[in-house]
Amino acid sequence: MFEMAKKYMSGGVNSPVRAFKSVEMEPIFVKSARKSKLIDINNKEYIDYIQSWGALILGHAHEEVVEEIKKQAELGTSYGLCHELEVEMARLIVKHIPSVEMVRMVNSGTEAVMSAIRLARAYTNRELIVKFEGCYHGHSDGLLVKAGSGALTFGMPSSKGVTEKIVSNTLVARYNDIESVKELFDKYGENIACVIVEPVAGNMGVVLPKQGFLEGLREITKEYGSLLIFDEVITGFRVSINGAQGYYNVLPDITTLGKIIGGGLPVGAYGGRREIMELVSPQGPVYQAGTLSGNPLTLAAGIKTIKIIEKDPDFYSKLDELGKYFEEGIVSALGDFDVKVNRIKSMLSFFFSKQEVDSYEKVMNSDVEIYKKLFKYLYENGILLSPSPFESLFISASHTKEDIEKTVHYFEKFSKKLKE
Ligand code: PLP
Repeated sequence: MFEMAKKYMSGGVNSPVRAFKSVEMEPIFVKSARKSKLIDINNKEYIDYIQSWGALILGHAHEEVVEEIKKQAELGTSYGLCHELEVEMARLIVKHIPSVEMVRMVNSGTEAVMSAIRLARAYTNRELIVKFEGCYHGHSDGLLVKAGSGALTFGMPSSKGVTEKIVSNTLVARYNDIESVKELFDKYGENIACVIVEPVAGNMGVVLPKQGFLEGLREITKEYGSLLIFDEVITGFRVSINGAQGYYNVLPDITTLGKIIGGGLPVGAYGGRREIMELVSPQGPVYQAGTLSGNPLTLAAGIKTIKIIEKDPDFYSKLDELGKYFEEGIVSALGDFDVKVNRIKSMLSFFFSKQEVDSYEKVMNSDVEIYKKLFKYLYENGILLSPSPFESLFISASHTKEDIEKTVHYFEKFSKKLKE
């Protein structure tokens, strides 16, 4: 299948990470998925910790979500016109995400971020944006940027096809290093429209914000009249029902969302304070539109997902318990190999590193070779981790203690094998 896929699709995939290149393997082709498990086209079953890269907090094909999608499909799959589910979804997001007073639905996290940046530039009448090394905000041109040479600089394109001119408005700071942000503001503060950050970094593996980091960003942006954007595409409804902003009690000006709010269907959203959101067309002068935005199937799935979460007051503590169990299992199985687990609730990653991993630099210094071997070993035994240590693992509400036990068991076997 992969050979055929490569004939018709670049690299055989529709998104690079699926190619499993970073673990030097070939992709799996999924036949079906239910709860915590995936089945591939060879009928091999896996416990899945990718969970559509965090989009599925209830697990695959949750019965009630599937039922809602079916019901809505009978009523039409897309209208390109207003409908009631849009209002309900907006109400739910505003209810739960503390800094959001108004919201606009889009079709992907990339689109949400792109629109949020446009809005921040319009609101502030400024051009520069600040992002962090190791944070990913989708693949729009201005954000496909890595740190340039030198300590703190204008970024360099991280993809061919993105020009230096386009990224000349993007500054790159270091995650968890508030001084690096201050230096940028000292130099360019009057022209910085916004700082965009993953409040918990999830795209260099999980890196938690150090105490004071998010608060520091809030202070600096306020002082200079710049906007603070929290990219909560992963963390929204993942680390708490109020997102990372509710968990850490730091409120941004604009929030981007995706993944979980689509219940497994394509989605994105951006929202914020009313006076900012009112600049969006047709109320204001910032153009942004979408044929399939607010798609009824997506919203049916997303609304049901949020309502299932809402109904269970212990939803996140149960996920946290599973997460803790997994974390302890990893530490006990791999402790001899200097493993460090970074976890918040149901998102976690582990690094082979002697020191705590709290920066991009330390992520990059961790040992990826052991991870590759571990990935392969678990894969052979029916357990699917993210095919890179720089991606988070996700636990869903449908994972069971037995799933985690089985996983840890194979971690232990791997560890023994490695010591031999
Ligand atoms: N922002 C963050 C934090 C993400 O993790 C991602 C995707 O993983 C995106 C934005 C882009 O979202 P999408 O893949 O839906 O375009």
